[in-house]
Amino acid sequence: MAPVSPKKPRGKKPAKPPVRRGWRGLLGGPSFFGNLVTTILIFLLLMSAYSLIAGMTQPSTDIPLSTVAADVAAGKVSAITVNGDQLSLTYFDQTTKTSRKDPSAGLPETLATYGVTPAELAKVAITVQGQSGFQFWFLTLAPTVLTLLFLGFLFWFLTRQVKGAGMQAFTFGQSKARVTDPADVSQRVTFADIAGAREAKEELLEIVDFLKSPKKFLDIGARIPKGIILMGAPGTGKTLLARAVAGEAGVPFFSISGSEFVEMFVGVGASRVRDLFQLAKKAAPAIIFVDEIDAVGRVRGTGVGGGNDEREQTLNQILVEMDGFEPTEKVVVMAATNRPDVLDPALLRPGRFDRRVTIDLPDRRDREDILKIHARKKPLGPDVALAVIAERTPGFSGAELYSLMNEGAILAARDSRKEITQYDLIRSIEKVMLGPERKSHLLSKKEKELTAYHEAGHALVSSILPNADPVHKISIISRGRAAGYTLKLPFEDKKMQSRKQFLDDIAATLGGYVAEEMLFDDVTTGPSNDLAVITALARDMVSRYGMSKKLGPIAFGERALGNEPYSERVAAEIDAEVSHIIDEAKARATKVIEEHRTALDAIAKELIEKETIERAEFEKILILNGIVPKKKEEEEGGVVIAPSGSGHIA
Ligand code: ADP
Ligand code: ZN
Ligand code: MG
Repeated sequence: MAPVSPKKPRGKKPAKPPVRRGWRGLLGGPSFFGNLVTTILIFLLLMSAYSLIAGMTQPSTDIPLSTVAADVAAGKVSAITVNGDQLSLTYFDQTTKTSRKDPSAGLPETLATYGVTPAELAKVAITVQGQSGFQFWFLTLAPTVLTLLFLGFLFWFLTRQVKGAGMQAFTFGQSKARVTDPADVSQRVTFADIAGAREAKEELLEIVDFLKSPKKFLDIGARIPKGIILMGAPGTGKTLLARAVAGEAGVPFFSISGSEFVEMFVGVGASRVRDLFQLAKKAAPAIIFVDEIDAVGRVRGTGVGGGNDEREQTLNQILVEMDGFEPTEKVVVMAATNRPDVLDPALLRPGRFDRRVTIDLPDRRDREDILKIHARKKPLGPDVALAVIAERTPGFSGAELYSLMNEGAILAARDSRKEITQYDLIRSIEKVMLGPERKSHLLSKKEKELTAYHEAGHALVSSILPNADPVHKISIISRGRAAGYTLKLPFEDKKMQSRKQFLDDIAATLGGYVAEEMLFDDVTTGPSNDLAVITALARDMVSRYGMSKKLGPIAFGERALGNEPYSERVAAEIDAEVSHIIDEAKARATKVIEEHRTALDAIAKELIEKETIERAEFEKILILNGIVPKKKEEEEGGVVIAPSGSGHIA
């Protein structure tokens, strides 16, 4: 029921494959209690080691000298080794014992005082060993040294604990940047890993050249841009491109995300920035990459909330650092954003992020190349035609194409197949677009009927209005959050949308609502997402694209607390225009559905029966009801060729 707009990020973004090493992993240790347990364990370990070594000076099995004398007299002892004051006795029965004597007296004298005769003593082999200097000193000093070492260790460990657990009191000024070492081949990304984005790559090649041989540029007095900002929709490969620049140039890559700056206390972000720049300068030539810079780089001085102070300070610090670069600095700062419109103009001034690189969504050929890159390590079946998949995925970003290949592989693996088939990939397109099918989500008879009419409403209006996109597939099997869906795909890749297209789009999206209202004389919560989408679209038409005849070609900007680019009066006029656009679209959708009521019934009936209708079946129903289906010029009659262009689902 609810449409999923393909212009918005769909599906999951793939998890970042490369594992980046923590620059300061050592300090960001485990929890406080984890540390406590470790401390105690280490303490116990050291204690036992200590007592063991200390014990070496005091053998515990000593027998008294009187016993030694008695045993010698009795002729039981075969040998005695004397080592300082220590005696090691070996008996004829192979047992060994130890004892001690007065260090100043010799063994024969000592035994003589116990009444051992020289004749009895002569039967015993006596060896005298001198204690080596090292052994002596070791045994004497070990207890003291170990105690000192242990105390030192304890002290160090406890201070470390304070750092780790004590509210990060000592660490939070330090940069949380991750660094990718150029020597680490497993993490290396190069331009060969990126398909499409030709202009962006070309632009960035200059930076690669500079980082590779900065001297060449500096000698001739050339100034290389310090700041490059990558702009593009989510998943278009901005982060990937930045990493590839580092990979191509073979320089360290320091990366941090704008959202990580915004944490806790005022001043933290700023000191992190300082730290990060310091690290990078030491490692120069190097790249600093600030991902999602819009999180800190939004227009300043608009908000009222406390968090803004922190953002501003962080942003100011970035600007200060960039302004403070020497002309000979070999550090290039890159940043990425998908909201260039909200960036503070100060960031874009000359000498800062003055180089802008835009990355577009991939076109059909780029999509095919991206699919090829991600198919590299995946065995594809003989029937796989990536060109067809590329044709069917207009509007997909690189990240979504990556997920698509991955979903295909998962489907094949789940069936224990060794190769990915075309059918796996086709099914993955819808999965990435809409989320997985939920066959378990059972609709009641009434709900099913309602959903069928709702989707039929979308499909019918799309087929009649000249500027709406042709219907590709209709289904009342729920997917993700949608109870059903109508998949519309334009024939061409669209770079620009016109006013007429928007108006027909809004009418088609309202088709579901209108059908529900007309048939059941009631409206459900089902179309709530449809309504949110068209309201946002209508508002953009009026306030961003200048598509309102009444208000004219003015881009009004965003209105927020403390930021009022236009008056209350204009705000009211915008609201009125939005309502007007939607009312008009609703009237047109109503007219279409009233005029083609039999077609609507036929589509809904087929949907209730089959649950999913593909384009060919759908067009048959249209023809039976006297409606001419939309055709792509080069399309031969009847054959379904998947249309290309940016997709739309309603
Ligand atoms: P962004 O930073 O623009 O949101 P990412 O750079 O994080 O996008 O891209 C996410 C993933 O999508 C990448 O890791 C890569 O697997 C894939 N991807 C995106 N664009 C491309 C491309 N042009 N060529 C190959 N893979 C791409
Ligand atoms: Zn809908
Ligand atoms: Mg990114």
